[in-house]
Amino acid sequence: MSDCIFCQIVAKKIPADIIYEDEKFLVFKDIKPLAPVHLLIVPKKHISSVQNLKMSDRDLIGDLFLLAKKIAQKQNVAQKGYKLVFNVGKGGGQEIPHLHLHLLGGWKTKKERDVPGMP
Ligand code: AMP
Ligand code: ZN
Repeated sequence: MSDCIFCQIVAKKIPADIIYEDEKFLVFKDIKPLAPVHLLIVPKKHISSVQNLKMSDRDLIGDLFLLAKKIAQKQNVAQKGYKLVFNVGKGGGQEIPHLHLHLLGGWKTKKERDVPGMP
């Protein structure tokens, strides 16, 4: 979708701090990080939200979670633990209507982790 900011990042029309790319996914740093490690795992295919997933997206969503696991290991947050978050719809806090999984981690203390607004 031409007016979608994440589609534009996927098309390299808008810059982003990309840390991983393959044929189906792009992973880049969140522009306003809420954690020492805050990445967005984004399918290249435009799907508006979890609520718009179809049966035919089953493999894609399976791959998304397996990629999240791999990226968490690469970013050295897997051992300590991390959060995976989908905001779904405006009322769920979703600002960008292109499905993305937040990967958050890298905190040194519980206090640092438990910031207001973090699920
Ligand atoms: P959500 O509220 O779940 O839709 O999350 C959207 C996230 O995208 C927010 O955490 C924003 O900080 C982030 N974001 C918005 N624009 C950009 C951008 N150009 N590059 C990287 N992250 C962005
Ligand atoms: Zn899009």
